[in-house]
Amino acid sequence: QDRLVQPGQGHGDSAEASIRPLSLAEFIGQRQARENLSIFIQAARSRNEALDHVLLFGPPGLGKTTLAQIVARELGVGFRATSGPVIARAGDLAALLTNLQPHDVLFIDEIHRLNPAVEEVLYPAMEDFQLDLIIGEGPSARSIRIDLPPFTLVGATTRSGLITRPLRERFGIPVRLQFYEPDELELIVRRAAGVLGMGITPEGAREIANRARGTPRVSGRLLRRVRDFAAVAGVEEVDKRVADAALTRLEVDRLGLDSMDRRYLGLVANNYGGGPVGVETLGAALGEQRDVLEEVVEPYLIQQGFLQRTPRGRMLTDQGFRYLGLNPPNAPLR
Ligand code: ADP
Repeated sequence: QDRLVQPGQGHGDSAEASIRPLSLAEFIGQRQARENLSIFIQAARSRNEALDHVLLFGPPGLGKTTLAQIVARELGVGFRATSGPVIARAGDLAALLTNLQPHDVLFIDEIHRLNPAVEEVLYPAMEDFQLDLIIGEGPSARSIRIDLPPFTLVGATTRSGLITRPLRERFGIPVRLQFYEPDELELIVRRAAGVLGMGITPEGAREIANRARGTPRVSGRLLRRVRDFAAVAGVEEVDKRVADAALTRLEVDRLGLDSMDRRYLGLVANNYGGGPVGVETLGAALGEQRDVLEEVVEPYLIQQGFLQRTPRGRMLTDQGFRYLGLNPPNAPLR
């Protein structure tokens, strides 16, 4: 899964840290989320309490980790990060929680992947700042209760449907992140270019923004690749033409679709008459896992209006056919 346009984190993304916004004021877009968080943060600060627990929903790369860090920073408290699959046993969670300072933020990414036994222990920790642990086994087992410092849990998930109801209900502040508009991504690209000390015109930034699939992580990655092209070509300032040439060579088209997307759409159109066709079948034909298709490939194609999920399988829309330069099957010939 090494696509330039993949929204999840990849190998070359360690450079991301340097372009992370550090305050709510620097965080572009997601106005509603930003405004709400800002009010709740101010209120928690003025009462000298821990902020209520926050649940961030949204596709990968939209800024969940970044927002969690910003929340801690704006609260003026410590930040610890982990992820659902990493916390294997209740004892691992206990170690994390007992090491927090009062009012600290604990960030759990992919919180929908918590082990159910760990999740059970998390409930009283979130609600009453208490841990109930069972020590030992069999007849000598006993339960102990540990008081925790008040803390804020910030959970993040890409799959809101997979969060259990009892867990979801324990978050006072649910926040849903949306795909970004091109205007917002253009600002994000310009800001990141500034941080990287790279010259770019507004039109150059716009060209990258248009192909970034509504996702800041993708815009950052495209920007770094364009920067490489510009450096090799000896170009000091990236304009529309340079950005376009670089991205076209990288096979990311004007809408941000890459060769994987085009293979997917082409397969449905040419081999299955536009569908409906099952996702398992498509996965087998493309050599991809069903999960990857569902979480990474399809959402953007659906958002662009090229694909529909129906109970009988995936179907190409008329727009999808036209994108491929084909006539939709039921359309009158032109
Ligand atoms: P997620 O946790 O949702 O997968 P991240 O928080 O890791 O996403 O963000 C991915 C990249 O996008 C980071 O480099 C981050 O700095 C950048 N980014 C995300 N949201 C914004 C934003 N609103 N403004 C500027 N940069 C952003």
